[in-house]
This record gives sequence, structure tokens and C-alpha cells, in this order.
Amino acid sequence: MITQRSNIAAIPSYRPGKSTVDGWAGPVYKLSSNENPYPPLPSVLEAIARAASHIERYPNMAAPELTLAIAARQGVLPEQIAFGGGSVESAAQLIRAFAGDGDEVIFAWRSFEAYPLLVSGAGATPVQVPLTADHRHDLDAMLAAITERTRVIFICTPNNPTGTVVRHDELHAFLAQVPDDILVVIDEAYVHFTNDPEAERGIELFHEFENVAVLHTFSKAYGMAGLRLGYAIVRDDVHEGLRKVAMPFALTDIAQAAGVASLAAEDELQERVDVLITERDRVRASLAAAGWKSPDSQANFVWLPAGDMTDALNTHLANLGLIVRPFTGHGIRVSIGEPAANDAFLTALESAPRY
Ligand code: PMP
Repeated sequence: MITQRSNIAAIPSYRPGKSTVDGWAGPVYKLSSNENPYPPLPSVLEAIARAASHIERYPNMAAPELTLAIAARQGVLPEQIAFGGGSVESAAQLIRAFAGDGDEVIFAWRSFEAYPLLVSGAGATPVQVPLTADHRHDLDAMLAAITERTRVIFICTPNNPTGTVVRHDELHAFLAQVPDDILVVIDEAYVHFTNDPEAERGIELFHEFENVAVLHTFSKAYGMAGLRLGYAIVRDDVHEGLRKVAMPFALTDIAQAAGVASLAAEDELQERVDVLITERDRVRASLAAAGWKSPDSQANFVWLPAGDMTDALNTHLANLGLIVRPFTGHGIRVSIGEPAANDAFLTALESAPRY
């Protein structure tokens, strides 16, 4: 028997959202992984086919075309972009490079499921700071949690799974108080779905504070979850560390080509994002009208803080063909899908057990 490292033995493995429902003959809607419900654009599929014609070769790790396209889009320098196979891999690289044995990594909780796994996997200690009663980051408590062992802080905004955002002014004030040898990673996986003018603007903060990194992904707004493309916007000192821990050749030429084609088709993709934002706001308004408590989501999902009723509510939704993401004892995250999926969700709630 091969024994796991003790910190690995102590943690549960990552569980992806489910994709099937037993015993239901009607339409099934997968609303468990915050994916974009729309199929890839023809121009993106064509770029993928072209790139697939040379898969006998290793990919170009420098990703020159994609780097220039993102730099131009985000207003940063090409050398400030560091790629990952999905932004979860970028998060893993940041943790591997900057936090190890004896170090602490602070993040809000509940937040993205992968953070505690990645931190423990690197041998560092996760420091989970509870969200406020209204499901937002408690920045004062996060500041108070800093010790001389803190190396990295994650700010997830909009926060997965609650959908709440950190305001720009409050994050600015927070950053002004964080020692500049602590890396603050702003995870903006869902930023494209935000329509709150007060929400933080990570790139501006990156330009202003030397210890800030920003994480972006092509999985959500760009609808490329299956291709695994994400990146970190970082300064030289951080980039140097990331180059040493990045998995060689993790970013395929196919993902790079699809990324370039997606940026070229941004207007078309934005129309879909706009539909999802409208749908999110419609779902939120319906939840509020029906008396369901749910925080103000700025992402492509809503959070039902069902507490002890989580498993019962999840079973009810599953029995009606709705695959959602339950966190037993806490609540349920429901992704915003196409209008028919959202209608099915709202209809299912009409007969659901209440929390
Ligand atoms: N950050 C957050 C907050 C997420 O919710 C996710 C995906 N669930 C990711 C990062 C990672 O996304 P990907 O690896 O697909 O880019």
C-alpha cells in the first residue's frame, strides 16, 4: 500500500458537477458547472480544425499570436501574460511557485472549491476566512488573518459559488493595507458577466499595485471550458517563478488557435454574454418575487443558501431533470443556462421544499 502525504490524505478530491439524471424522461438541463450553454462559433471550429492539422508536433509554448491578442485586449504588456491549461492551472502555478511548507494562503470561504485542494497539494496551509452574513468577502477579517507566514491571498470576484462581487473602492483600500511581499491574486473567472458599475476592476488594480495578479479564463464567457485555456496577468518577478513551475506544453496549439479566433469574434460572443446577463437578472428577479433568498449574483449562476434543506432541494430539482451543484449543509449553485433551462428551473422551484 502506498501512503499519501498526510496533508493530501486529509483533503477530499475535487468533484466536478454531475451530467446525468436517473429516472427522468423529460429534458435534462446541466446547470452544475457554470458553463456557457451555447455551442462554439463556426469561426472558432474552423480555427481548431486548422490547428489540428499539425498535432504531430508539440505546441508552441510561447503562444505568440494569442499573447499579442490578449495584451492588446487587456491593455497589458505581452510579457505580463502567463498561460495555464485553464485558469485553475494558473492558480496552481501561482501557489506552487510562491507558497510551500509552512506558508499560508488566505481566501474567503465558501469560495472556489479548488483553492483548498491546490494549497494543500503544494504543502501550504489554507486559511479560510468565512464570508459575511450576506455572502460577501469579509476583507477586514481577511486583513486580520495575515501573519508573517502569509504568502498569497486569493480574492474571487464575482465569488464562486455566491456570485457576489468585491467593490472596487473596498478592494483598493484592502490592497493599500496588504504588505507588498504578499501576492494578491484576483480571480476574475466570471468578470464578463458583471454589470455592477461598483464592481472591482482587476486590471486597473494590477497597474496600481505591484503585488497584484489577475486570473482570467476562456472557459466561461468565451465558451471554451472543454479546451482548457486560462492565463494570469503578472509582473516580471511573478512571471519568472511561474515559468519554472508551468507544465511544459500544457497549452495546446488547438486551444491557442481557438483563443485567437474567439478574441477576433468577441462582438458575437458578447451578444451571448449579454443574453446570459439578461437571463441572470431575470432569474434573480423571479427568485426575489417568489420569496427565495439569494444573494445579488453578478456571475452566470445564482446561489441558493438552503442550509440544512440543501440535499432535499437538490433531490427535488434532480427529479425534474435539473442537474445543479449542491454543497451539503450550505446551499446550491445553479448555473444560468439558455432561457428554456432557466424556465425549467424557475418552474421546478414552484413545487420545491423551502429553506
Ligand atoms: N476560478 C473560478 C472562481 C472558477 O469558478 C473556475 C471554474 N469553475 C476557475 C477559476 C477555473 O476555470 P478554468 O480552469 O476552466 O479556467
